[in-house]
Amino acid sequence: MAEDIKKTNDDKDYEDVCYICRRPESRAGKLIHIPNNICICSDCMQKTFDSMGNMGNPFQGMPYMDMFNMVPPNMQDGVPKRQKVKKKKAEPKKDKSMYDEGTFDIQHMPAPHIIKEKLDEYVVGQDYAKKVMSVAVYNHYKRVLTDSPDNDVEIEKSNMLMIGPTGCGKTYLVKTLAKILQVPLAITDATSLTEAGYIGDDVESVLSKLLAAADNDVEKAEHGIIFIDEIDKIAKKRNTNSRDVSGESVQQGMLKLLEGSEVEVPVGATSKNAMVPLTTINTRNILFICGGAFPELEKVIKNRLTKQSSIGFEAELRDKYDKDENILSKVTTEDLREFGMIPEFLGRLPIVFTLQAMTEDMLCDILTLPKNAILKQYKKLLELDEVELIFDDDAVHAIARKAAKKNTGARALRAIIEEFMLDIMYEIPKDDMIGSVTITEDYIENKGAPVIKMRESGEAKILTQRDIPAIESSEN
Ligand code: ADP
Repeated sequence: MAEDIKKTNDDKDYEDVCYICRRPESRAGKLIHIPNNICICSDCMQKTFDSMGNMGNPFQGMPYMDMFNMVPPNMQDGVPKRQKVKKKKAEPKKDKSMYDEGTFDIQHMPAPHIIKEKLDEYVVGQDYAKKVMSVAVYNHYKRVLTDSPDNDVEIEKSNMLMIGPTGCGKTYLVKTLAKILQVPLAITDATSLTEAGYIGDDVESVLSKLLAAADNDVEKAEHGIIFIDEIDKIAKKRNTNSRDVSGESVQQGMLKLLEGSEVEVPVGATSKNAMVPLTTINTRNILFICGGAFPELEKVIKNRLTKQSSIGFEAELRDKYDKDENILSKVTTEDLREFGMIPEFLGRLPIVFTLQAMTEDMLCDILTLPKNAILKQYKKLLELDEVELIFDDDAVHAIARKAAKKNTGARALRAIIEEFMLDIMYEIPKDDMIGSVTITEDYIENKGAPVIKMRESGEAKILTQRDIPAIESSEN
């Protein structure tokens, strides 16, 4: 009895296979069951009837089915064994609410303020950039959805150019945006691109990346986002006599893509060769976002502003611009042209905006506020060991101060935290009695140790050395 139940349960994991073409039911479609446990798919059944019309042996030439002349290999005592293959486990359906809580799809594009609210959950500060991006993305996908040839007013593409120092969140903003909109994203570095035919990647290679990000679904890829980082590195080179294969020519090469064109793209590879199939992607509805730090741009802007005000109060004003921290936000297309971007290229990036450099307060917020803030992640990790991890406010500021000194924006944070958390993550799980760990400013500045509270006594035990293993031995 129990065997029977087990057998039926096992049976559930298997599916029938067509006796003639050997395809499982999931591929061949509903199978027809005939006596003796034989299953046949409708295609083979049809073929059988067709060949019967031509007389002769209907199964001639079909594998295993020359049954009128020979016994197929899977026959036992004249009765075929039931042919089955193990069913593929159905992939768990992506439940929107479970997986990507609060994500949108481009068919139901939310209003810009809702997109910004969502970005706020992950990205700290950069309010202006988030606002501009939300509106641009909203307009872009509205344009995509209403795109039809008989529209009398053609809405322009909302390609963007973001300018901001390294580590201020350019890439992170775009990644977050693509994630909440659930569109495929390809990120590429302009420095790796060269004019077609030279060593390096062709401009078009980025489309292959996007296609791969869209699981080779062309339609999905055509609604995706391409982020081209380090765009300032392809500025026109000044005072050069050699051929500029990685600067101006790359800008030229990108013009068609930015505007919208049909491009043949290799599927599953980044270069075209005889061995890979090609598909055509139309870049008309792909949103291009370019980003760069434009390091010398401030000087260009200052020069322009100073020139403009050179009549009258020149000396006083020159000083004013030197101290202006938000000088980048005064950028104009003229400045970018002066920097080395060609006008045709700039013309295809109608939305230009700047991001702020990271301040100490912003760095503190990045550590603590976002949904997946790095300190929250460490807290969660230790929580799994039932240890409470506490960061003093002063400690958070000390981390931010240290990071700010490195001049790499928020990028420095992770390295700093990982350095001092290593000892803690290694040592704490060794002792079950530890109930909480408090990270202090002194610990961050290498002047002291974290405060450890043991579980039962509840007494604060102030460590005297930074080295936790030494403390542990005194405890034992
Ligand atoms: P870049 O501006 O050089 O492209 P990134 O976007 O790559 O800088 O930022 C590096 C990392 O710093 C990101 O992965 C993110 O974790 C963090 N980060 C940067 N800016 C922010 C921000 N405004 N809010 C939250 N995290 C940020």
